[in-house]
Amino acid sequence: MSDCLFCKIVAGEVPATIVREGERVVAFRDINPQAPTHVLVIPKDHHPSVAELAAADVGLLGEVLGEAHRVAVDEGVDGTGYRVVFNTGAGAGQTVFHVHAHVLGGRGLNWPPG
Ligand code: AMP
Ligand code: ZN
Repeated sequence: MSDCLFCKIVAGEVPATIVREGERVVAFRDINPQAPTHVLVIPKDHHPSVAELAAADVGLLGEVLGEAHRVAVDEGVDGTGYRVVFNTGAGAGQTVFHVHAHVLGGRGLNWPPG
């Protein structure tokens, strides 16, 4: 999609700090990090949200999740714990409509409480 920010990152047309890249997925640092580790993992192919990706190519969704775990290991947060989030739809806070997994870690993530 020519007007998609994350497609432009995949194409190298918009700069990003890439931390891992595979054949079908890429991981880069969030520009506005909410935790010491805040990395976005995306498929290179354009799918608007995890809903469409799950319907179109669940294997690729599995690759995104596998890569999210490898990011956590690389960042050293797999031991202390990390969170993987897909905001799905504007009502859930999704602002970029190219599916992305947020990988968050490196601080206490006190949700849900208790
Ligand atoms: P969401 O609200 O779930 O759609 O998340 C979009 C995320 O993309 C936000 O956390 C933004 O900080 C992040 N973001 C927006 N533009 C860029 C960019 N150019 N490079 C890296 N991350 C970005
Ligand atoms: Zn895209």
